[in-house]
Amino acid sequence: MPEGDTIYRTAVTLRAALVNRVVEGAISHDPHVDATRLQQRRVLAVEPRGKHLLVDVGGCTIHSHLGMKGAWRVYAKTHGTSAAPRQAALVLRCRDDEASVTVACFQPKLLELLSPTALRRHAWLSQLGPDLLDSQFDGNLGVGRLQAHGQRAIGEVLLDQSVICGIGNVYKSEMLFLTGIHPFCPVDEVADERLLELLDMTRRYMLRNLEGQPRRTRFRDGPRLWVYERRGERCLRCGERIERATQGSLARSSYWCPGCQPAPGSQCHGTA
Ligand SMILES: [Zn+2]
Repeated sequence: MPEGDTIYRTAVTLRAALVNRVVEGAISHDPHVDATRLQQRRVLAVEPRGKHLLVDVGGCTIHSHLGMKGAWRVYAKTHGTSAAPRQAALVLRCRDDEASVTVACFQPKLLELLSPTALRRHAWLSQLGPDLLDSQFDGNLGVGRLQAHGQRAIGEVLLDQSVICGIGNVYKSEMLFLTGIHPFCPVDEVADERLLELLDMTRRYMLRNLEGQPRRTRFRDGPRLWVYERRGERCLRCGERIERATQGSLARSSYWCPGCQPAPGSQCHGTA
């Protein structure tokens, strides 16, 4: 499941493959994407923004959101012909003096081309909160942004990309477990320093996962993750059974250990 760390890793790969190369061929199988707009333009930058990826192709930006299943893939040089499968939503063939490369985007939740004005005014992108993986991310500012949603459950607020962007469903459950915070606890009931620790830790684990696959929050023998998708299994710390409930308007799953993350009040109990 692509989260902020996956998008950062994808951005690094695409940057190496595309930046400073000219688009020689662009094909889209999405009728809403006019790939001819990209032809003969030079790729200037690849930028992750939370779970969104922006590829600046000479002033025309490819905006993709990979959702649950999407992926970008890079294909080795194949003597000038595209090796990318036909089912890709977008295929770009680029070259410079030294090499040619083909990249393809598969099954994105969203794929669109944006002019500079459309990019600036984009309803979704313009509402994104600060990116947790941005080198300039300020933890104290992040805590303030969480606290502005004090009545809402922490598990719900962490996924709200307009508050802080980049955190997805796996990190949400895992980091709340590691900091001992129940996902249904209102933000107001979590001390400032614990919120700061939560953000710092999440950032650290996401950065650590930039280097390897598959994603881990547990770096020892046994399961890679502490609680995510482990409902009914024993907690790897205290032996209690892991619980699961859905949260928020999108009904996203949260997993927690009732032993390590005690519910702070009756209003904090989820419906399993
Ligand atoms: Zn436990």
